[in-house]
Amino acid sequence: MDLTSSYSKLRSVVDVAFNAPLPPQAAISDALKTLPASLPVTGLGDAVVGSHLLTDITRGLSGQKNSANYYGFVTGGVLPIAEIADNVATAFDNSVQVHLPDQSISTFVEVKALEMLVELLHLREGWDGKTFTTGATASNILGLACGREAVVSKRLAGTSAAELGILGACLKAGVKDIQILTSMPHNSLYKAASVVGLGHASIKDIPVNEDEPWNLDLSALEEGLSLATGGVVSIVAISAGEVNTGRFATNGASTMRKIRDLCNKYDAWLHVDGAFGVFARCLPKTAEFSALHESAGGLELADSIAGDCHKMLNVPYDCGFFLTKSPSTLTSVFQNPNAFYLVKDPSGIPSPLNIGLENSRRFRALPVYAVLLSLGSEGMAEMFTRQVQLARRVAHFINAHSAYELLAQPPDRGNTFDNTHIIVIFRAKDEAINKELTQRVNATRKIYVSGTKWHGKPAVRIAVSTWKVDVERDLSVISAVLDDVVSSYRDL
Ligand SMILES: *Cc1c(COP(=O)(O)O)cnc(C)c1O
Repeated sequence: MDLTSSYSKLRSVVDVAFNAPLPPQAAISDALKTLPASLPVTGLGDAVVGSHLLTDITRGLSGQKNSANYYGFVTGGVLPIAEIADNVATAFDNSVQVHLPDQSISTFVEVKALEMLVELLHLREGWDGKTFTTGATASNILGLACGREAVVSKRLAGTSAAELGILGACLKAGVKDIQILTSMPHNSLYKAASVVGLGHASIKDIPVNEDEPWNLDLSALEEGLSLATGGVVSIVAISAGEVNTGRFATNGASTMRKIRDLCNKYDAWLHVDGAFGVFARCLPKTAEFSALHESAGGLELADSIAGDCHKMLNVPYDCGFFLTKSPSTLTSVFQNPNAFYLVKDPSGIPSPLNIGLENSRRFRALPVYAVLLSLGSEGMAEMFTRQVQLARRVAHFINAHSAYELLAQPPDRGNTFDNTHIIVIFRAKDEAINKELTQRVNATRKIYVSGTKWHGKPAVRIAVSTWKVDVERDLSVISAVLDDVVSSYRDL
């Protein structure tokens, strides 16, 4: 089979078929029927399989990347230059695991991409441990693993949790418990806690109150941290961009400064889960976004930051990043002991396999590199601006609508939306409508939204994260769908 013509056929299939956020349900069922019953003994051959992929399988795939109106989860789209870069990564299939300066420039590109990312995020200096991961979940695992290593090893002389194991290290260090103090954490933090041997129960959710569950309670934080004197050590995890509400756990650099000081006082590790929220720091520094800059301020004071690239940066899955100011902690946990490739190049570039989960890994830095170069910080800020503006226009629309209620509004902000980032959470005032709202909206196949819960009741969440946003065009699509859904009940 001619792969070039097959690739251009793919382009045309994608361009023609996928403007809708979801394929029709029947297309998914039809596509399902084309799957084989089992592994063929005699292979079908490239020609048959190529056509199967392009005609059968593609019919059943969601339009989350290609549609401008997919608002489920926080998925991002894929910028065209990122797609090209991703194909280059596949075409050369370099495994970026060992820094081999005489064989490939891939590790140099990876480091350059990470440096530009730190610049884009205005995180200042000191991030000497940085790597690409498969996503924010993996980055949270790295963050908790580093936190665990640092807080336990502080109480050990010359050895570490990575050496002794968590149980042995804690016994030797007199550590009775390791807790994670946070507010409204993403569910991946629970997974990360389990993976690094701390367990779900280690997570202590300490919000200021029920109305602002995303907001971290500083006095409860200090109370928790002070248990250090009794042998309970802590990792603090800041939700910088909570996934249901888009809100931030802290409200500015001075709060982060206080938290930093508390962490220093009690030898705690300060981790930020900034999967999508950290990108609020890249918005233009104008009055329009000053509240968001305030909320995302001070994150540079953390010991580690988890972030996603496949969300706001609009590169393909899977790509996240992890930054830490303590590269020695990172290598202490992740290095392959006794391997020859521990030797660092004079350039100071570490082998990625010693600072992350995987050994063999994809050259996933390349799409990030391409996007950052192509758009620059101004182009990025322009893309993020459109996303926030659409989210705020949707929030206004919902707030003014008699049938809908906007949720998770900070009580003191009244009806201004200057705290709205890219997420809008709302419900229908009529509970009968509300129960079916997500399903009704998605059944239109014109937009796709996520169902969630707010204070125990169903709610709908719109997350704007694609580069394709056109504020006026998309606002009219969303508002027409939301109007139609409530008026369909009136017609009954
Ligand atoms: C999406 C998200 C994650 C998990 O990221 P993945 O890329 O799905 O691994 C973690 N934290 C927050 C706040 C998120 O929004």
